[in-house]
Amino acid sequence: MRPAPPSPVSFDADGLPRSRRFGDVYFSREGGLAETRAVFLAGCGLPERWTGRRRFVVGELGFGTGLNIVALLELWRANRPPGGQLSIFSVEAEPLGADDARRALAAFPEIAPVAELLLSQWPGQRAGFHRLEFRDLGATLDLAVMDAEAALAAWDGRADAWFLDGFAPAVNPGMWTDALMALVAARSAPGAIAASYTVAGQARRALAAAGFALARQPGFGGKRERLEACLPGALAPERARPRVAIVGAGIAGAALARALAVHGVAALTLDAAGPGAGASGNVAALVTPRLDAGLGAAAQLHAQAFDRAVRIYQAMGAPIVVRGVLQLEAGPRDALRFAKIAASDLFEPGELVLMDAGETSALLGEPSPPGLMLTRALVVEPAQILHVWMPDVLPGAVARLERREGGGWRLLDANGLLCIEADLVFLATGADLARLWSGAPIQPVRGQLTEALGVTTSAAAWGAYVGPTRDGLMFGATHDRDDTDTAPRAEDDQRNLAALSARRPRLAAQLAGSPLAGRASIRATTPDHLPLAGALGDGLFVLGGLGARGFALAPLLAEHVAALALGAPSPLPAPLAAIVAPGRFAAKRQRIASRTKAL
Ligand code: SAM
Repeated sequence: MRPAPPSPVSFDADGLPRSRRFGDVYFSREGGLAETRAVFLAGCGLPERWTGRRRFVVGELGFGTGLNIVALLELWRANRPPGGQLSIFSVEAEPLGADDARRALAAFPEIAPVAELLLSQWPGQRAGFHRLEFRDLGATLDLAVMDAEAALAAWDGRADAWFLDGFAPAVNPGMWTDALMALVAARSAPGAIAASYTVAGQARRALAAAGFALARQPGFGGKRERLEACLPGALAPERARPRVAIVGAGIAGAALARALAVHGVAALTLDAAGPGAGASGNVAALVTPRLDAGLGAAAQLHAQAFDRAVRIYQAMGAPIVVRGVLQLEAGPRDALRFAKIAASDLFEPGELVLMDAGETSALLGEPSPPGLMLTRALVVEPAQILHVWMPDVLPGAVARLERREGGGWRLLDANGLLCIEADLVFLATGADLARLWSGAPIQPVRGQLTEALGVTTSAAAWGAYVGPTRDGLMFGATHDRDDTDTAPRAEDDQRNLAALSARRPRLAAQLAGSPLAGRASIRATTPDHLPLAGALGDGLFVLGGLGARGFALAPLLAEHVAALALGAPSPLPAPLAAIVAPGRFAAKRQRIASRTKAL
């Protein structure tokens, strides 16, 4: 198990937080909040600068205690433009724990309610991007837990305003390098402004070299001067609010409806068979990450998506059937694999717990191999999630998409009759994707899950899996490639029972004589076993290929796709967005073809 890193902060006798590593303070002794307001908020011309804007993007270098961001959210709350959405991006190499942050922010009771909104979803220590959501304020925060340069290189946003709040250049030159300021400029919207408390030579030179025009302003408190830096250019005109359609009412469609609603965009969802008719309609679903000991981009994608899904379901509360899923060793390489993953920074410290055979056996009540306890994994009730995120689904069998003159799409049924017209269309039709996107790289896999009533168990997985439902248990699932028949089969229930007996014989014996109910659906997989999430061009987007992990993958990937469609910053780092880009197979084919031609 990975231990929690030591706290990066120590508190002075008078309660001021100070960095152990850099020796510098997180905020000024002379009233941290007043300095934040003077240097960063007023320094960036806020709130006047966002007047009349539908979307405003703020970037920050150095998240620290979150004080600047709380002050920003408080200003936004009081001066939000009608319908406006605020996207915040910040970076932090050494994140504070929630307790330290709470202690630091307690010094500012005047912003306590907004501080609590942040503290109640305080981001963790996992390396990567963390998305937080302030639904009532119309704001999101993406916090990159990594070095600033890597974070900016991976972010696809364009900030209108920057808070440059690394420690002083004299003690932390790494936050003020020419390369980093060039990245700040590259991740800025035309006419962007950057503010800082320091006018140190290195900061000024790096900003000027990156194209900023500098102005020294009278400083706050004991400081003589502060800095304002502007890029040339004018704001691009904002897009009109789009009409949006989602085709497909499973977890992908529902997560898209949710992600769009967070941006204040209402979507119409169409599905010929109603919500959860396909693979998202099982009685319960496991929310577990793929355990990938490669620790590369695919592993990071699964870990980030899992973390986001768990946080969202935790906040909803009601759909959770049980917390904690035990992953049992299923082969000789699993012990090493599990140990490597548990020691990595892919997950929160302490959330993956290695267990020996004695511990797993005690937990499951029968002899079991060693395993890895996924303490934050969940079993959820799909129907509740779909209903909350997608209360209204229009019955519509979309058979064809037709481009509209001047942009947008007409969604037609099999008789050529118009279902609806939309500017943006999201395809979320699971294994059926190829019907609307010819050449969709989808391979169908039939999966039957078996349900039994009256007997319950904790959740465990070993290739096959078993978990509790509200009134019994479920186990499975079969995996039959290219079989698209959804009629339940008695022999598939027996195959599932055999897989259960192999690892949980006592539990399987308890089921003797219980009626078994099977439900089969078609999962959508892709040739590289990674999802399809992104743009297809001309206002068409896709979220699919989620395999057997729809409830873990869809919430974050939907936020990514919604961001791409609405021109907002994505919560996915660029290298992870690249591995789910829907055009990757076609692009690879093209690369090979042009190489072959060149030979
Ligand atoms: N804005 C913060 C607040 O409101 O509390 C204060 C930020 S503090 C002055 C600077 C922060 O930058 C620290 O939290 C530190 O860990 C972080 N930091 C320093 N060097 C960094 C780097 N190279 N990459 C990312 N974060 C860094």
